[in-house]
Amino acid sequence: MKFDIFFAEQLFEQYENYKETKLYGRRIKHKDVSAIICEMKNNQSLFEITEEGLSVEGRAIYSLKIGTGNTNIILWSQMHGDESTATRALFDIYKFFLSENFADERNTILENCTLTFIPMLNPDGAERFDRRNAPGIDLNRDALKLSCPESQILMRIVERIKPQFAFNLHDQDPYYTVGDTASPAAMSFLSPSFDFEKSEDTSRRNGMAVISLINNVLQEFVPNKIGRYSDAFLPSAFGDCLQRKGISTILVESGSVHYDLEKEFIRRLNFVSLISGILAIAENLYLNVNQNIYKNIPFNKKDNLFDLILKNITLSVNNFSVVTDLGLRRNFGTETDDLIIQRIGDLNTDYAYEVIDCKQHILKKSLRVGDSALVLKDYFKTSGLASEFVQYAGLLGL
Ligand SMILES: [Zn+2]
Repeated sequence: MKFDIFFAEQLFEQYENYKETKLYGRRIKHKDVSAIICEMKNNQSLFEITEEGLSVEGRAIYSLKIGTGNTNIILWSQMHGDESTATRALFDIYKFFLSENFADERNTILENCTLTFIPMLNPDGAERFDRRNAPGIDLNRDALKLSCPESQILMRIVERIKPQFAFNLHDQDPYYTVGDTASPAAMSFLSPSFDFEKSEDTSRRNGMAVISLINNVLQEFVPNKIGRYSDAFLPSAFGDCLQRKGISTILVESGSVHYDLEKEFIRRLNFVSLISGILAIAENLYLNVNQNIYKNIPFNKKDNLFDLILKNITLSVNNFSVVTDLGLRRNFGTETDDLIIQRIGDLNTDYAYEVIDCKQHILKKSLRVGDSALVLKDYFKTSGLASEFVQYAGLLGL
């Protein structure tokens, strides 16, 4: 058996050797990935590279195929245009397969599996850093209707290769916690439901088993920071739809850790997770896994985590004063990820990446949910919170 924690540790430690340095940060675009794919096409023959079709705005969507084994695995990324973490990791994984290291593990995978990758399924969304495609359709609600070329391309490839396993690669925003804890979910996983009753069959259980093995690996690097995504059945979502066809589907959601706004650390976790998961499939290890491991991964929750909490701020309006808390989250739709006031009230049972105690300094202003952090600028400068202002000015975008 080649799948073990020691192998995963080596992947993690030696990650920089495989990192595709031409890709960095959340806002990569189609031209960045297509340049690398064209270069790969010209320079090597290990991957079979196919232009599978064009997006609504005419950007090429590619598949990259490697391996000669009987187990077909499909991995697609970035069907939501603003979710690039796994796309970057896939290019790191290509470098892993093109390297000369880990020959045993690489050969085990390539002899037992055939891997088909579709990186950046929604290049038009990536262009404008938007979840949806050019006409505004959420491709992950288009699995039944197949109304867009991007969805049609994905389904056509699925029908052609008839995979046993599918990895559906996404990002989730940084406000998901692991259950009721203060821990942000670094990554979350799901073997999606295929009916409203959330039934289980062998195929779905195989997906759960692969997730269990990946979870065991990741706990080494980010203990207690792995979550389970909601298993509510969504018939028009691709994962649920493929699971219904008997394809063991693994939803991967790249989450967040502190000080990793560009999600380059989460990218590294993706690299380790996906190679480990594929190797576990190649070695048939999923056939013998305790189902409780999957069921003990806590569901993630989105209610209680903020980028920043300002505690004990005194708001004074007319002759009324109240000591309260503000919870702020970023608006990732803006180029500068502006902080926005999301909640005003008692946040004693909530969590944040950063907390500033305002020590009851008074702000003579009424605030509204949706206000930009800019409304706090003068307050920080004049209220005796100058050192906090300096420390957090960048974070606050002030
Ligand atoms: Zn997504």
